[in-house]
Amino acid sequence: MTTPTAEGGTASPVTVAANRVLVLNSGSSSVKYQLLDMSDHTRLAVGLVERIGEETSRLVHTRLVGGGLTRERIGPVADHEAALKAAAEELAADGLGLDSPALAAIGHRVVHGGLRFTEPVVIDDEVLEEIERLVPVAPLHNPANIVGIRTAQALRPDLPQVAVFDTAFHTTMPEYAARYAIDVETADAHRIRRYGFHGTSHAYVSRKAAELLGRTPEEVNVIVLHLGNGASASAVAGGRCVETSMGLTPLEGLVMGTRSGDIDPAVTFHLERAGMSTDEIDVLLNKKSGLVGLCGDNDMREIRRRIDEGDERAALAFDIYVHRLKKYIGAYSAVLGRVDAVVFTAGVGENSAPVREAAITGLEGLGLAVDAELNAVPSGAPRLISPDCARVAVAVVPTDEELEIAVQTFALVGQAHN
Ligand code: AMP
Repeated sequence: MTTPTAEGGTASPVTVAANRVLVLNSGSSSVKYQLLDMSDHTRLAVGLVERIGEETSRLVHTRLVGGGLTRERIGPVADHEAALKAAAEELAADGLGLDSPALAAIGHRVVHGGLRFTEPVVIDDEVLEEIERLVPVAPLHNPANIVGIRTAQALRPDLPQVAVFDTAFHTTMPEYAARYAIDVETADAHRIRRYGFHGTSHAYVSRKAAELLGRTPEEVNVIVLHLGNGASASAVAGGRCVETSMGLTPLEGLVMGTRSGDIDPAVTFHLERAGMSTDEIDVLLNKKSGLVGLCGDNDMREIRRRIDEGDERAALAFDIYVHRLKKYIGAYSAVLGRVDAVVFTAGVGENSAPVREAAITGLEGLGLAVDAELNAVPSGAPRLISPDCARVAVAVVPTDEELEIAVQTFALVGQAHN
């Protein structure tokens, strides 16, 4: 780790190892950031600015080294530029400023990389233009990512900025899995195809699952169930994604916190003819559907609490959620042919034993089973929850998208800096 005397980098004549990466995740109204030391993957600071553009914006910054300390600021943060500047001030107040020579790069989560970006890239003008060209297929996400990149570039123009794409891991999907069965010319003219998202998480978790099985990623076939507020499944064969449940946008696939997942597209024409606007339908399917649409809650803890009290709407929402999961596990078992592990991750997948149990129960025919005792143990570590005798392992592997972004960023620029 860098010695404290090198912080700020003003007086020390010694060359400082550039081994830190700042990870930025710029959403439509929030910016999340983490500063990591890549020599041992420790987090030095983490923070979040939310409700950007409102009167009640909130910044929460936590220094994790030198005796942890959390600071909170409430008050208007006008835009992403102001948010990043505020985050930079907080980091500087902890001696972890962006001007430190220890900072090797800034890694940006970019949601849509289309077909072109199959790997992380160092951002130049041409890369930024391509990310902008993808705005029509990612109107909610890419604009915020672009603002985050531009602001970070203005703060440290000399520093490599790397884009790590949510879609990249899925670019290995075969054409027959990625293409929708619609007119080819229309699809190509509008770049309509299945891209998939959460790729950084699926890549990280599938690799960690192989490690847990004591095998290399090339040796195993795994189904990853990323069940957070957004949720997606992927089928990963020998380390390469061959299927995933999200499509042109993150709306397709599993039942999510607020998104419907799979739905007959004719539902949208039907609603339009009934008088709803395109924007209203967009909000309905992305924000007011899924668990929240079915029962009014999107937090699995609250849904389980209501079920325990006998709430029927919550119970039906849970059953619909689990039914969809089972369908995807079955479908992806067929796609893979041989499955070595089914892996649960993200907020629900890592924490909800009832969801894991319900999703696997009844799938004995696929070689799947959950050990009730192992499943009930709360843990933050990668672990197996299937009985020893099970043909297919069932595992819980906590995801860490920020670490994966930092690792990929550092791998790309680290050589140049060390
Ligand atoms: P994520 O998007 O990965 O942060 O996941 C957020 C979701 O995880 C929340 O909306 C909850 O539904 C779920 N979640 C978080 N903690 C728990 C828990 N302890 N038990 C069950 N579900 C949880």
